[in-house]
Amino acid sequence: MISNCRRCRLSEGRNRIVHGQGPSGSRVAIIGEAPGAQEDAAGKPFVGRAGKLLDQSLEMHSVRRDRVFVSNIVRCRPPGNRKPKRDEIAACRPFLIKELSSIEPRIVMTLGGVAFTALTGSSRPLREVAGKRFDVELNGIHLTVVPNYHPAAAMRSRAIRRSFEKIIAENLSGKKGR
Ligand code: SF4
Repeated sequence: MISNCRRCRLSEGRNRIVHGQGPSGSRVAIIGEAPGAQEDAAGKPFVGRAGKLLDQSLEMHSVRRDRVFVSNIVRCRPPGNRKPKRDEIAACRPFLIKELSSIEPRIVMTLGGVAFTALTGSSRPLREVAGKRFDVELNGIHLTVVPNYHPAAAMRSRAIRRSFEKIIAENLSGKKGR
């Protein structure tokens, strides 16, 4: 059961399972890598510093955070904020598929390379694919995936921040939800 899931080792160190959040009719889903410390404490996705940058960037382009669905590839915080491992991503995949099946978003923006690879199966580097569109079929659901940088990377580099904003502006601006 998702409320007490023990399907992978990430259950051992978590405080709270971080479910996706957002209205069921969202046209846009934003999918990150994994919960961090603040998300693990709050039980909500993207509430830390990276989440605040995401909120600011969405607002700047007239996209309301409360009108988009936000989730992660895995629902429990990896120890020390390491990247989730392949088996952990596979274990959590049914929950992500269930979320996306119920939302049926028109656009799925992935944040960071791990989320992009997990949804598309491609291991191409983010610098080559950021901002491009990928048609993906996920258990019978057709999705348009737009890879973007992770906001944590955008906080460290002005060039990445510019690209991050541009990809949001070009793909999400005006798509506020149903
Ligand atoms: S990361 Fe996903 S599969 Fe692993 S324990 Fe948490 S909810 Fe279950």
